[in-house]
Amino acid sequence: MAKEISPNCAKCPVEACAPRIKVDDKPSLKTTPSYCPMKNMPGIIEKAMAEYDKPEVREFARLASVQEFECYEQTPEGRRTKNPRIVELIQFAHKCGYKKLGLAFCGGLSNEARTLTEILEGNELEVISVRCKVGAIPKEKIGIKPQEKIAGPENYESMCNPIVQAEILNRAKVDLAIMLGLCIGHDTLFIKYCRVPVTVIAVKDRVTGHNPLAALYLSNSYYSRLKSKK
Ligand code: SF4
Repeated sequence: MAKEISPNCAKCPVEACAPRIKVDDKPSLKTTPSYCPMKNMPGIIEKAMAEYDKPEVREFARLASVQEFECYEQTPEGRRTKNPRIVELIQFAHKCGYKKLGLAFCGGLSNEARTLTEILEGNELEVISVRCKVGAIPKEKIGIKPQEKIAGPENYESMCNPIVQAEILNRAKVDLAIMLGLCIGHDTLFIKYCRVPVTVIAVKDRVTGHNPLAALYLSNSYYSRLKSKK
């Protein structure tokens, strides 16, 4: 069997999946690269598209696209953006009819969690929040060695506990779980164990004010060591 070519959309020069054509014209695959999944994986696309036939999935996708649309406005100077993600979160929650939100946050962002909670509550949304250290389980439980503790070998250090965070929010049957600043890997576990819809308000980046793209934006200048070959 011929080896399947892995998609590499990140390197695509044509982006024929978002063609600038009129509404009644048909997108063409003629110029797509050999690694284009539209060329090589029509079966997967067809199977995935069938999911949108489920009314609840279709409606969720529709509301997400309406939300996307509403983040732009037409002005005499042209189209421009208007909503930060926090506003989008509130609007989307109301669009979906959500009443109860779950907030899984990192202890390093406790102030942000408090502020976010106040803002959400001020917009008629109930918030159930769970801090990452919930359980107060020592890191030794998962095999962390004394010298691998941030607080030092002589100190008690609670493990981050994304599975407990997820299970508490599952139990509360929140309409939507929001991740705020969970670490890499902890966020992965949280998503894995969450049985309610999940979104992200911010990811953890300790050196860029939780804006990981800042490092990319500087990768051709002040942070060019990111691109040096290892
Ligand atoms: S789907 Fe095809 S056309 Fe679109 S970015 Fe990927 S490779 Fe390019």
